[in-house]
Amino acid sequence: MPRTASRPSSPATTTPTAGARLGAAIAVLTVAPLLRWLVAAESVPPDRPRRAGCDACGTPIGPTGPLAALSPLARCPGCRSRYGAPPFAVELALLLAVAALLAAARPGWESLAFAWWTACAVPLVFVDVAVHRLPDRLTRAAALGTLALLGLAALVGADGAAWWRAVLAGTSAALLLGASTLLLGRRGFGLGDAKLALSSVAVLGWLGWPAVFTGLVVTFLASAVVGLVLLAARRIRWRGHLPFGPFLVLGTIVTLAAA
Ligand SMILES: [Zn+2]
Repeated sequence: MPRTASRPSSPATTTPTAGARLGAAIAVLTVAPLLRWLVAAESVPPDRPRRAGCDACGTPIGPTGPLAALSPLARCPGCRSRYGAPPFAVELALLLAVAALLAAARPGWESLAFAWWTACAVPLVFVDVAVHRLPDRLTRAAALGTLALLGLAALVGADGAAWWRAVLAGTSAALLLGASTLLLGRRGFGLGDAKLALSSVAVLGWLGWPAVFTGLVVTFLASAVVGLVLLAARRIRWRGHLPFGPFLVLGTIVTLAAA
């Protein structure tokens, strides 16, 4: 299947307009506090409930708490202690991801599907780095929302082949990573990685089989390079665990921007 089959050649798909840039800037300002909240709430060990307030003083974190609790400064407005993702990190990651989406300049439902996936993927990266897990709540939202929106894009653009390719690529990747967990246990990929691969590789699959290949090469190459650097710097050990989610997200976003 040629890659161009999924990409209508309209002039709107070439350069983002000023309106698209303004829309993206407003989206970043609105969505960033929500993503910061998700990171703080979900960055807990697997056996613990979501974080509802500051660990030190209990000041609520979230839409019902003080707005300052979701500021990029990452400090509790009650006791000034640091919590959640590092200052300005979520905001910067979101800006870079949105820049990649603008570079991809996809039409209508397709861009909405990729924006939805990005909004789920950015907090997943920070949670995976912080506590080495990918919460079901976010990986499930990423998979269901992305596949549903891509389904609408396929209906509107009458390109059912792209959607089936996305489903096939996503489920194959998820099954392969899931099988590695069953066969290798803790030395394989985590089940969270498999669930994230469902949506990430579906995004790549929508773009075409060459994009699946490129995205996975970038993912594994980046994880190998970072792993070796951390080993050399003695930050991890041979048997240590390096989160895989951030590399999967990186490989997908880089490929999306370049496709
Ligand atoms: Zn506090």
